[in-house]
Amino acid sequence: MSDRSFNPFRMAQVQFDKIAEMLELDEATRDFLRNPVREYQFSIPVRMDDGSVKIFRGFRIQHNDARGPAKGGIRFHPQETIDTIRALAMWMTWKCAVVNVPLGGSNGGVVCDPHNLSMREQEQICRGWVRQISRDLGPQVDVPAPDVMTTSQHMLWMLDEFESIRGQKIPGFITGKPVGLGGSLGRKEATGFGVVFALREAMKELGIRPESTRASVQGFGNVAQPAVSLFQQMGGRVISVASWDQKDQTAYCFRKQSGVDFENLLSMADRFGGIQKNLAVERGYEVLPGEAWIEQDVEILIPAALENQITSDNVGKINKNVKIIAEGANGPVTPEADEVIAGRGIFLIPDLLANAGGVICSYFEQVQGNMNYYWEKDEVMGKLDVKMTSAFNEIVQVAKKKTLHMRDAAYCIAVARVVQACKDRGWL
Ligand code: NAD
Repeated sequence: MSDRSFNPFRMAQVQFDKIAEMLELDEATRDFLRNPVREYQFSIPVRMDDGSVKIFRGFRIQHNDARGPAKGGIRFHPQETIDTIRALAMWMTWKCAVVNVPLGGSNGGVVCDPHNLSMREQEQICRGWVRQISRDLGPQVDVPAPDVMTTSQHMLWMLDEFESIRGQKIPGFITGKPVGLGGSLGRKEATGFGVVFALREAMKELGIRPESTRASVQGFGNVAQPAVSLFQQMGGRVISVASWDQKDQTAYCFRKQSGVDFENLLSMADRFGGIQKNLAVERGYEVLPGEAWIEQDVEILIPAALENQITSDNVGKINKNVKIIAEGANGPVTPEADEVIAGRGIFLIPDLLANAGGVICSYFEQVQGNMNYYWEKDEVMGKLDVKMTSAFNEIVQVAKKKTLHMRDAAYCIAVARVVQACKDRGWL
């Protein structure tokens, strides 16, 4: 069986089992941590614009909350599955632990395609999702945030519904809120900037100068856009960007060997991060098949679209000049492909660290909300940089000391911290 059809939750469990073995965890600890503590599945009836009623499937999964309230995104996607959400919830537990923020891991979503829904219909889905699960969410319980195809607008509708149900203002219910309505400056850029902060540290580690690097990026959404922008400001050159074409129902890779112009590319993108093919051709981009992003002659690959993108089928296509892979997306590399990447000596910045900027800034949003005092953007970014850099250095130290790859080192730190919290609470 190709790992293309690999189940993301199975993948998260395989990753965990490997570390459980290394850390010699006992049977009960393994059983406890390889599955979520709580799972909710529900139906959301929505009256559509044409007067009909449609039922949408919603989920919320809390993997572990030993280190603090659960924290995790809400994804709107037509191919959403409970196993994807289980995997994302588990990865969130490890991510919060590895960057040492006092939060647990959860995730949620709705099976729907916002491309085909009006804003009113999306608002009804958001409000319906909150009504179904409001008893089991809250600032001290589980705090949602944006993910694929959800934005600050969706978060605000969800907050408004939650506050209406509770009859009070509870801004700590959700993060990723609009600035001015409880949101933090810099949240929009945080994940992508965090990817580049980690990339900068990796380049230092390998003795590579950013000006001498080229990158190929998969995705041009919330994560990839700021990553492309900051990487270029640092002196690097992005030569190709892949995105999903909703009309053609396929992905394309847009290439410009001299380097893409970020603002120009942004002006061709829709609100879902899809790049308009015809405009790109007019503006001198080569349009290649979606998979071409992986085989470009570059030093850096940034998968920042979806999980399961670098698999045993295509890992062999990675160019011999690639030195660093920064996982902007969650779970973009399967365990089989991981082994090949490690064997080739490519420095991989694991998702647990690479895309942790979003949750770190969400944590800052909660801290600022609790104080009711909001920092300037420079202060947010400075604090984000400190957190990302210190987590990077800790992982590198463990990797060197125990002769591990970066992913295994990150996992060892994260799992050990969560196990300790569970033991300290007397759960295990
Ligand atoms: P998004 O919906 O804003 O953007 C996704 C991008 O990927 C779009 O440009 C889309 O066109 C592209 N895409 C989709 N399918 C593709 C395919 N088959 N080939 C090429 N491109 C494709 O999503 P996002 O919020 O940027 O999230 C991207 C990834 O990062 C996800 O794995 C998500 O879980 C992870 N992540 C997001 C955040 C965040 O703050 N948004 C934080 C941590 C991790």
